Amino acid sequence: MFVKKTYKTLRLILGDQLNSQHSWYSEIGDSVLYLIMEMKQETDYVKHHIQKAAAFFLSMRAFANQLEAAGHHVLYYKLDDEKNKQNLHENIKQLILQFKIQTFEYQLPDEYRLDQQLKELCDDLSVETCAADTEHFLSNRDEVEIFFEGKKTYLMESFYRMMRKRYSILMEDQNPNEPLTGKWNYDHSNRKKLPAKIAIPEKLNLQNDASDIFNLLKKEQIETIGRNHTNTIYWPINREQSLALLDDFIEHRLSNFGAYQDAMTDRDWLLFHSGLSFSLNTKMLSPLEVVKKVEAAFHQNPEQYSIEQVEGFIRQIIGWREYIRGIYWAKMPDYSLLNYFEHKEKLPSWFWTGETKMKCLSVAINHSLDHAYAHHIQRLMLTGNFALLLGCDPDEVDAWYLGIYIDAIEWVELPNTRGMSQFADGGIVGTKPYVSSANYIQKMGDHCKKCYYNYKDKFVEKGCPFNSLYWNFYIKNESKLSKNPRIGFAYRHINKMTDDEKAALQEKAA
Ligand code: FAD
Repeated sequence: MFVKKTYKTLRLILGDQLNSQHSWYSEIGDSVLYLIMEMKQETDYVKHHIQKAAAFFLSMRAFANQLEAAGHHVLYYKLDDEKNKQNLHENIKQLILQFKIQTFEYQLPDEYRLDQQLKELCDDLSVETCAADTEHFLSNRDEVEIFFEGKKTYLMESFYRMMRKRYSILMEDQNPNEPLTGKWNYDHSNRKKLPAKIAIPEKLNLQNDASDIFNLLKKEQIETIGRNHTNTIYWPINREQSLALLDDFIEHRLSNFGAYQDAMTDRDWLLFHSGLSFSLNTKMLSPLEVVKKVEAAFHQNPEQYSIEQVEGFIRQIIGWREYIRGIYWAKMPDYSLLNYFEHKEKLPSWFWTGETKMKCLSVAINHSLDHAYAHHIQRLMLTGNFALLLGCDPDEVDAWYLGIYIDAIEWVELPNTRGMSQFADGGIVGTKPYVSSANYIQKMGDHCKKCYYNYKDKFVEKGCPFNSLYWNFYIKNESKLSKNPRIGFAYRHINKMTDDEKAALQEKAA
């Protein structure tokens, strides 16, 4: 890469800021040096899935090449570069001196950890500093906090409706405050089991050679989790591939997205999901372009796409994704310490191997290990549900989720894991813990019939562990949960149990 001796401005691009549409790049000048760095502070703050580490580095390298091809000056530090000091602070201080930089600029990071680090760095620098917006999200960092000020609960649905109106998405033309079709939310029509005969679409065949990166990770002794069966990464690593994945999703999966969004099966790992979270979270795609393209497909082809599918998908992006980010910024740093149930257990060792006789968990964990991916209901109602019922320490659970998924970045991982899945926030993200017995897993999936355990039993040796753990969870946490109106049914059931029955359940759970 061509680099001059001096520059006026140094602009930092973090690994999840690969937004080629950012206004920074609208002008090409030789007074600005862009900086992208592979650093051990990022590979080592948690043990990442090997495919995740590789996909990030490949995408960062592709982005640097793209900027350079457009005429920008770029300095790229590989992990094993001699000059690389492996952390932001030292690298940037060194480069400011080396290039006689007068202004240091960065885009606002999405993680609290990096936000703090950059603030400290700027306090320590003697040059001018400037933070720019990433121009990615549809709401500001503090918007959820302001929106819910003075309210008792952080209800996602009301935030989502505001976003629909603000961006005029799926709204009536004549009456812009009214949702198209008169109904805001189709969640209730979106809970179908996967029919045995449904054809699952082929996946887009993306082939990105990652052998250099795998060698580099090995040479630098970076500890990773998960598996890479080949030297190829099939996650999109640039904007072109991300757009191709979006088109492929719209053409082949969107028409069934909502209906089977909660279905669980060993027949496929992506099903009708989009697989777009890595492209979105690295900012290769903007959330607005994704929802606008989906909405346009719906209007152009109402025969192929029903409102149930399209609304279900759009809600995830302009609703859940923005809301989760707002909760993160409203509640950090205290949120990362919350542990409402005071859980202390370790995660079972088979979360890292997938070796369990419980078919549903074995499938979800093996999907995660093989592809750095599991879909939302696998994350929430299988691994998350089990960790919560078992009483696992939320710190352990967070570290597993933050490491294993291709899309895991703390701003989105933490409120989903600690909040939605573990209820460690005591009810900020969810109004009740997302726990279930085997009944739900059997209803929504095809695992139970292939399982060693029997989903109908709780007491016997082959009774599904989800059952005893489920009732044990409610019995154990009665003082914290019994007044929650959304779970009155569980306590009505428990109140009908004899003491012997309760004791037997607790013994089985233990
Ligand atoms: P699709 O099912 O196709 O959904 C489309 C998009 O909607 C996703 O790409 C994502 O951007 C957005 N979305 C959907 N649900 C959520 C949500 N609850 N929060 C935020 N965005 C959402 N998502 C991450 O991006 N990173 C994480 O680290 C992460 N950790 C999670 C941990 C747990 C315990 C749970 C229950 C969920 C987590 N999610 C996380 C949310 C969700 O599971 C993933 O976004 C989704 O599975 C990604 O796959 P997809 O792109 O195929 O999504």
